Formats: sequence, structure tokens, C-alpha cells
Amino acid sequence: MEVASNIFIIELPLPFKMDQINCYLLKGKNGWTVIDTGLNYPPSTRTWENVLKDMGLKYSDIEGIYVTHYHPGHYGASGWLQELTGAPVYIHRTESLFVDQMWKKGRANIPVIGELFKENGMPPNLITEVLDNMVDIWSAVQPHPKLSLLSGEEKVDLGGRTFEIILAPGHSDGHICFFNRDEGILISGDHLLPKISSNISLWPTSHPNPLDLFLRSLEMIRDLPVKLIFPAHGPVFKDYRGRVDELLDHHRERLSRISDLASAGATAYHICESLFGTDLNLHEIRVALIETLAHLAYLESKSEVYSRQENGIVIYRRA
Ligand SMILES: [Zn+2]
Repeated sequence: MEVASNIFIIELPLPFKMDQINCYLLKGKNGWTVIDTGLNYPPSTRTWENVLKDMGLKYSDIEGIYVTHYHPGHYGASGWLQELTGAPVYIHRTESLFVDQMWKKGRANIPVIGELFKENGMPPNLITEVLDNMVDIWSAVQPHPKLSLLSGEEKVDLGGRTFEIILAPGHSDGHICFFNRDEGILISGDHLLPKISSNISLWPTSHPNPLDLFLRSLEMIRDLPVKLIFPAHGPVFKDYRGRVDELLDHHRERLSRISDLASAGATAYHICESLFGTDLNLHEIRVALIETLAHLAYLESKSEVYSRQENGIVIYRRA
């Protein structure tokens, strides 16, 4: 579906609770550009094949592939698509480090992640299940492309327009958005979504205070003259500043709730259960715990909570 002249939205299936991703195809003078690629799993790659056929395109018509960040639904099929198109795959240089750590050395990371979950109070039998569930995703992010690295200060011609590449870290450390100033079009990836708040994750290898990065990125881009947002999940939307403010409020409320939950001293896992409930699948438990940890790291950086190891378990307490 053409959502603006020369910009097409491609909806691909994902095998998660978030069951769909929007990728974008932009028509240029000499070829087409893809922004985000979906997972390399058959329902998604079949959709790409059908979409290109319906649009009368050959793989060789694709001249460039951009990945907003390293998460599996965005990066996953980039290697598959590069093999078929021969096109360069662009990603921010910081994200390439996460591609190495999370996808290429993924299994080597498992003990470190297990240790993080353990010291934050996750029950040992659950840790095993959550880590096994993570391993399942690795086959859907293969093969790996040869990456071309971006600094986040580039301007690129896509779909007959000039887009500024905007580094908006937080959801991941090197997340990029694409902004066209003339028409106020923002291709926002996962940085700004209409219906859900982007997951903010604290991983052993990520920035130590990702929520701080995310809130700063939201504030930094709040004043851009944006008229139309093309997100990676959910419908195209317009109320840019309203949505930014909603998200800022959402995180402020969540911080205050987490601070309350830590008043008498609690593990991150315990706080996470109080916040998100206990009826979560393995993927959701993992996401919920690292989201809780990101908020606790933020509160700790502001000296609103402090943490202490007690018998190998980290206890957070309101200051
Ligand atoms: Zn993401």
C-alpha cells in the first residue's frame, strides 16, 4: 500500500505477541530501498516474494537496505535479502556491535544473561526456560549480511526525498529514524509507536542507563516539525507531539510506581511481577524483567533508589 508518493508500507508477520512489523519500500530514481526486513522465517520471506511479484519488481531492483536497529524483526531477514538483491545493508555502527554480541556470539552470551536474571531474583527453573526460548530466535536472524556502517549524521535520498538519518538511542543504543524536513515525514522504527510504548531493555552489554537515553531522545526530537509518522508497528499516525508527551508521562508514572514498589526493599523480579503480573509467556517475562531493570537503573542514577547485593541477590530499596 502506498502511504505517501513513492513510499509503500509492507506488513510482515512475526511469531510474537507483537505479530506484525511494518517495513517500507521507497522508490528512487534508479532502484528501490527497503527499510527494515522482518524475520528470516517462511511466512515473512514468502510475503516479501509475493509483494515484490505484485509490484512487478525483481530482487535486482532493490538498491539499498536500511535496518533501523538490531532487533530480530528488523534485522532478521537482511542477510537473506542481501543474498538475493546484492544490495548493501546499512545499520548504525553501534548496532553492528549488538549484531556481533547478540546474534553472532549469541550462545556465548547466555551465561552472562543467566547470571543477570539470577542475581535479580528470577527462579532458577524459569531462567533455564527463558534462556532456551531465546535460543529459538537465532535461526531466524541468519544468514548475516555484510554491513555498511552509518554514523547517524548522513542525509540519504530515498523515495525522491532527502531524509536526515537521526540517531535516537534508547530502545536500542544505535537506533536510527529517517526524517524528511520538507514534508515532515518521520520513519520512526521502534522509537515512536502509536499504540504501545517501546520496550526499553537493560542488557549486560548495553548502555548502563537506556531509559535516560530514550527519554532524552524523545525530548530531542519532540520539536522537529513532524507531520506524519511511519512506525514499525501499528498504523501511520499524525499527533507526533501528543504521542511523545504521552510516552514521557507513561515512563514518569512507571518510575514512580517502581519507586513505590521498592519502598520496603525488593528484587527486580519481584517488582516486575507486581508491575506486569504473573500470567506472562517466556518471551514476555524476559522483556518485562529487562524493562524493569532499565527503570531501576534510571532511578538509581537519580539516587531515588539504591541497590545492594545480599547473598548474591540484588535488592533495590527506595532512598
Ligand atoms: Zn525493537
